[in-house]
Amino acid sequence: MAARTSIVVVGGGLAGMSAAIEALRQTSHVAGVTVALLEKEARTGGNSGKASSGINGVLTRTQRDKAIHDSVDAFIQDTLKSGSGRSNETLVGKLVRDSTQAVSWLQEDFGLDLDVLARLGGHSFPRTHRRPDINGKPQPVGWGIVSTLGKHLGELAGLDDARFKLITGARVTNLLRGTHGGVSGVVYETVDADTKIIQQHSMLSAVVVLATGGFGGEGNRPRYLKQYAPQLVGLPATNGAFATGDGLGLATAAGAELVDMDQVQVHPTGFVKSGDPGNPTKFLAAEALRGEGGILLNGLGRRFVNELDTRDHVTDAMNKFCSTPGTRARHSDSAEEIRGEPSTAAFLVLSQAAADSFGHGALGFYEKMGLVNRAEGLEGLAAALRVDEGVLRKTLEDHDSARDKGALDEFGKGVFPQRALNPPASSEDENRTRSYYYWAIVTPSIHYTMGGVRFDHKTRVLRASDAAPIPGLLAAGEVTGGLHGANRLGGNSLLECVVYGREAGRQAAAILADPSA
Ligand SMILES: Cc1cc2nc3c(=O)[nH]c(=O)nc-3n(C[C@H](O)[C@H](O)[C@H](O)COP(=O)(O)OP(=O)(O)OC[C@H]3O[C@@H](n4cnc5c(N)ncnc54)[C@H](O)[C@@H]3O)c2cc1C
Repeated sequence: MAARTSIVVVGGGLAGMSAAIEALRQTSHVAGVTVALLEKEARTGGNSGKASSGINGVLTRTQRDKAIHDSVDAFIQDTLKSGSGRSNETLVGKLVRDSTQAVSWLQEDFGLDLDVLARLGGHSFPRTHRRPDINGKPQPVGWGIVSTLGKHLGELAGLDDARFKLITGARVTNLLRGTHGGVSGVVYETVDADTKIIQQHSMLSAVVVLATGGFGGEGNRPRYLKQYAPQLVGLPATNGAFATGDGLGLATAAGAELVDMDQVQVHPTGFVKSGDPGNPTKFLAAEALRGEGGILLNGLGRRFVNELDTRDHVTDAMNKFCSTPGTRARHSDSAEEIRGEPSTAAFLVLSQAAADSFGHGALGFYEKMGLVNRAEGLEGLAAALRVDEGVLRKTLEDHDSARDKGALDEFGKGVFPQRALNPPASSEDENRTRSYYYWAIVTPSIHYTMGGVRFDHKTRVLRASDAAPIPGLLAAGEVTGGLHGANRLGGNSLLECVVYGREAGRQAAAILADPSA
């Protein structure tokens, strides 16, 4: 017999967790309401747990404390501009207007310290919140958020009243269909730990919230990528292998429309790991590295782009100016190492000031992973990058002189978070601290899928045939499409998970209270 619950949330990333928590809060006074969160992996977190740059918010306590004079309108305009006219303005408006509350929910309700602010590419103010290092140890923002919310949900699941059930290792394979073309529950599979036999279960519910994430992790079994963005098949990706777009198939089988499926974000800076350049899964070089002053150089040691431009523009410039055959080859002494190297690669370089501003906790982690290297002095950096020292010096001096003038440089960059050239060390300095340059090789990598299930500002999934909401079916997070248009701004995804995840929780509660809502 099928199990029965009031609300099923499918997917245990930030969108699903936010939906489950809000649904539980909204229904805490209603007897008999139960919520189940189904996650196909052994643990929750999804790609949300990998996020490293932060979550956007405007008019937040942190912005106020730091006297950042941002505005709702500026944030809306930045988001729409980044989406190149493809974003749904109603969805963007809600995202931005609810961002103050979203960040405050994490800061105040869950005690998360999100007090470091960065200005990422495409933003006109610093509004991306992340966590500070603690005793020199990095506190990755995505992991911090999902582990805190996950702990809260774990505690709720352990309570005697059993209002909440968390089932991991449960892959949803079908949606059950109810009356009026609606959805009335899910079918899911688990694998028996001892016998490895797959078991099928069904769970009836009044509402299903899809929060299954994107399809950027399809890897060598591309389905949606092959269909909608075949030119990207074979590119490395920053996503986990679980990001296979399951929610898209579930929703379309229930009649939903997909939107913007060909809009796939390629992040310009996936780290190319020394000794493992061909690995199709790339560790992301956090956008905050550029946000705090990191610059990009081509194989000749020259800049070629405004590092704080949007991701699509930076990626385009890399493809145009950094595909010099042999750039990487000049970097490797071993033919074995070169095999499978990306065809486009650039250098990401941080001065000591940029590194200090980014924080040595996370930077030290990257160094330990073999992703970031140190070079002492300009001579050391030129030798490490195998570029002409004179060319390199001029590149860094030109950057700093534009910074001093406060003018737009030749690439249209007008914000220069830090100097690129380290000041000459005085003998006194040398006795105290050495100054280094920090460098890495980076390559464009599939990162985020803007397309997905068409939904409205109440998170209702819309039918392809008549754009009407499919009864009982809601969606939030990366599984949805239409919000980001042609390019998602950094920090807007964690934000959409909280804003639209919580909205899905509220709507689910409203549907229980009034099924005709
Ligand atoms: C390396 C990296 C860094 C990033 N950094 C940032 C950042 O700093 N700021 C920002 O805003 N965004 C960032 N992003 C993007 C952002 O993290 C994600 O887009 C967002 O968190 C997606 O959240 P989600 O809840 O929609 O999906 P996810 O967090 O991916 O969660 C979806 C979950 O659903 C589960 N699932 C899928 N199918 C099924 C099924 N059939 N049955 C049951 N469960 C299923 C998956 O296993 C997964 O756990 C980053 C992404 C990556 C990959």
